[in-house]
Amino acid sequence: MNPLTLAQRDHACIWHPYTQHGLQRGALAIASAAGAYLKLSDGTEVLDGISSWWVNLHGHGHRKIQEAIAQQVLVLDHVMFAGFTHEPAILLAEKLLELSHAGGASSSRVFYSDNGSTAVEAALKIAFQYHVHAGKSARAKFLALKGSYHGDTLGAMAVSEPEGFHRLFRPLLAHVDFIEPDNFEELERCFSQGLSPYAAFIFEPLIQGAAGMRTYSSEFLKRAVELCQQNSVLTIADEVFTGFYRTGSCFAFSQAQIDPDIVCLSKGLSGGVLPLAATLVNEEIFRAFYSSEMRKAFLHGHSYTANPIACAAGLASLKLLEDSVVQKRLLGITAKTREMISHLSSHPQVKSARALGTIGAVERKGSGDYFSASPDKLFRRALEKGVLLRPLGRVLYAVPPYCVTDKEIEKIYRVIGELLDE
Ligand code: PMP
Repeated sequence: MNPLTLAQRDHACIWHPYTQHGLQRGALAIASAAGAYLKLSDGTEVLDGISSWWVNLHGHGHRKIQEAIAQQVLVLDHVMFAGFTHEPAILLAEKLLELSHAGGASSSRVFYSDNGSTAVEAALKIAFQYHVHAGKSARAKFLALKGSYHGDTLGAMAVSEPEGFHRLFRPLLAHVDFIEPDNFEELERCFSQGLSPYAAFIFEPLIQGAAGMRTYSSEFLKRAVELCQQNSVLTIADEVFTGFYRTGSCFAFSQAQIDPDIVCLSKGLSGGVLPLAATLVNEEIFRAFYSSEMRKAFLHGHSYTANPIACAAGLASLKLLEDSVVQKRLLGITAKTREMISHLSSHPQVKSARALGTIGAVERKGSGDYFSASPDKLFRRALEKGVLLRPLGRVLYAVPPYCVTDKEIEKIYRVIGELLDE
């Protein structure tokens, strides 16, 4: 038996994501998880108020997803996806296209990868290559929104908020113009320069998650997509966070009544259980790559593309989402979240408050950015109160799994209120 605790052993060998090891206390060991609760190794139970970085949809350890994984692992664990295919990937692609169509998009092909950043990376590369094939003049620039977050790989960082935590890497990044969401003047100006230099416009539809659950209008998005279509600029909806009912509808783009050329999905795609991502494109894009010339192929792929076990988990998760009990619960969470946010909006420490679907957020008064805020302190304080929260700068928010009860939602927002009091 190793005499050291898991936390001590972790401290000696692991480098954690988004962690300043010189500042933050050691990681807490999690022993198990069930439903909306995580169990720490000392037996403490914590309510997962942020769905474990926004991935978990149905609660941890859902029996139906476990069974789907168990069945699949006995049949086919993994196989390379170039030259091979399998039923879970096909069934899931068919289902995703059906859902995308129902939301109003004309997606017709699914390109799989394994995380949100790679879904975005593939989208950006596809958009760039599409214009090369279309024989249009080189379009080596992208258009993106200030405050956006699209991932941590180089392409995804390039289209993320330029003054945020990716700032350091700017010398390595592609050319991108950023506009402020809801600034219509700035938007129109971007499209008044004759031939557009943009390969694509990428956006998080309606709500910018990492920026602090910042919402913007569907009118702005609609106008942006209209201008893109008039100027042959492809549109990329990054639904990595918003997908699968986080904002109330299956995809947020449907609330803006737009038809994005490309849709990026990950996080909740597998129910939040296994790494999986998909980049959906329309037939016009796919046809631009279809050729007898190999150099026109999309030469991009990841070892774990379309992992069958992850696809099986995804299929089980999508089936659960269709269940009337889950749909009813989603309406309940949406209503309760709105009620809680409305209540918190009058708190003397609150500068602004917003609710969209299952997402609720309040911004504390005061100044300071991502680097000067003390998320670790608030994270620990919330844990002491039995809730997992991870503030984004001055923004306290909740994104619970869809199995939470009204009582549990009340608890999450009560803790947010107490943190504000303190
Ligand atoms: N896009 C959005 C909108 C996201 O919120 C995230 C992750 N928070 C990503 C992309 C990147 O996903 P991943 O962390 O799986 O690379």
